[in-house]
Amino acid sequence: MRVSKYLLSTQKETPANAEVISHQLMLRAGMIRRNASGLYSWLPSGLRVLRKVEAIVREEMNKTGAIEILMPLVQPADLWVETGRWEKFGPELLRFQDRHNRDFVLGPTHEEVITDLVRKELSSYKQLPLTLYQVQTKFRDEVRPRFGVMRAREFLMKDAYSFHLDQETMDNTYHAMHTAYSNILTRMGLEFRPVLADTGSIGGNMSHEFHVLANSGEDLIAYSTGSDYAANIEKAESPIPTQTRAPATQAMTLVDTPNAKTIAELVEQFGLDITKTVKTLIVKGATEEAPLVALVIRGDHELNEIKADKLELVSSPFEFASEAEIRDAIGAGPGSLGPVGLTMPVIVDHSVIVMSDFAAGANTEDKHYFGINWERDLPLTTTADIRNVVEGEPTPDGLGTYAMARGIEVGHIFQLGTNYSKAMNATVLDENGKSQVLLMGCYGVGVSRIVAAAIEQNNDDRGIIWPEAIAPFTVGILPMNMHKSHRVADIAEKLYQDLANAGVEVLMDDRKERPGVMFADMELIGLPHVVVIGDRNIDAGVFEYKNRRTGEKQDIPFDQIVEFLT
Ligand code: ATP
Ligand code: MG
Ligand code: MG
Ligand code: MG
Repeated sequence: MRVSKYLLSTQKETPANAEVISHQLMLRAGMIRRNASGLYSWLPSGLRVLRKVEAIVREEMNKTGAIEILMPLVQPADLWVETGRWEKFGPELLRFQDRHNRDFVLGPTHEEVITDLVRKELSSYKQLPLTLYQVQTKFRDEVRPRFGVMRAREFLMKDAYSFHLDQETMDNTYHAMHTAYSNILTRMGLEFRPVLADTGSIGGNMSHEFHVLANSGEDLIAYSTGSDYAANIEKAESPIPTQTRAPATQAMTLVDTPNAKTIAELVEQFGLDITKTVKTLIVKGATEEAPLVALVIRGDHELNEIKADKLELVSSPFEFASEAEIRDAIGAGPGSLGPVGLTMPVIVDHSVIVMSDFAAGANTEDKHYFGINWERDLPLTTTADIRNVVEGEPTPDGLGTYAMARGIEVGHIFQLGTNYSKAMNATVLDENGKSQVLLMGCYGVGVSRIVAAAIEQNNDDRGIIWPEAIAPFTVGILPMNMHKSHRVADIAEKLYQDLANAGVEVLMDDRKERPGVMFADMELIGLPHVVVIGDRNIDAGVFEYKNRRTGEKQDIPFDQIVEFLT
């Protein structure tokens, strides 16, 4: 590819409203453009990377024996009613009606559609086990789209679904997927960790997430220093009983909150005895107009009396999307929470809820969630930090102690059991002609998220450093002043052809730009190998080669360059 005939929309300035490095670099390198919140166009270089990720995922899926299909993005509501998720899924599910007033959704995932397909398509145990997959657009109306394609509303996912009659083949397929996911991320040169994950509201009995390790990751993972044991912090278990832990003694600062107050200040204000009462703190800043903070403290306080029988929800910080939801959760009628402001603590059974506007001034459409298990005396950061375990504690396997790392969830595998198949009556006849409900597994990879995650791990102050397997082009050719020097133009042209003939993906910068601009662009877009051609090296009969990752330069004789790069 020649830059003059390409769309290389690089930009020098760091874009405003791009918080993480991958988002900044994807915009600066001309990989993506924002269309609306959480919606992006993929420009040529971005698409080339996306397709490479997709190809690797597809190859590894095919290796496991999974078979590719393609299901519709638009799904009829009826199927979601059948599984109960029409009610349960919440506002992430984008619902709409067609011209006949029939309800539809934009698919955030495809368990319903695949189960419907399979119940009609399969009849006999002889067709099992079976794994089907697709690579397809998903839509989730994320409460907080951010970080570019990392948490988008429309994104590309590979989702696979397996069907079984017995746990043994279920386990085999799960294991094969675990291996495939490891292969995918290894091939891309990414540092990752598979971790035990919560099976959450879907139920099921086994789940792992695959995390690309990066400080910008939204998830916190706890891993063992002495074994392979690792778990998402939500799932991590401690062998130490909670009661024996030392109570919190020191003040903790609210981070990420513009007008931060310390917990100590809050505690003093309400006269709480944190050493015996505080269990969980949940702080939430909602929208620009109505930032909220909810403080949930379990204890024996009796400051006020509001009857509530839904206390469980209160202890689950992830459930709150609005003040109304908190009211609902605690069974409080309108007004009973009092005015927004640090004025009205509400005692619900053994919990105190404080709504506050002290997150006001958050400059952002983002919603903030904060949480902490106070008994453990831990620093307060984001929701992902609601910790069951702390650094240095023994792990459940007794083989090491806990260490923490931040991760970006790029894959998730799940044994679903019969949750969907039972609800949707997906059965086949077994050997004895008896009808049996299918066991199911599901396996997702965030194809578009991987592109961003890879950049989080591979960059420097000059730009992206692509791992070779997913680079948009493998080699960049930088001819210096080729519009003035015929020698440079001819040799560059020949190298371009030779490399193309050898099957190397090349990008040649044939613009009439200053060398400085060309170098900066090449480093920004991050091609692994760069060949510089100038009159000086031509005199010496060599190309100047530069490795993007190591920065190492090397002179390579003309007749050895193709071999060197292939
Ligand atoms: P998260 O915890 O980040 O919201 P999830 O657990 O909701 O992700 P899954 O339902 O497990 O996501 O979907 C499978 C994969 O799809 C995830 O592991 C992730 O890589 C990707 N994914 C999920 N949501 C998004 C999104 N909004 N934008 C891009 N990729 C996403
Ligand atoms: Mg999600
Ligand atoms: Mg998740
Ligand atoms: Mg997940």
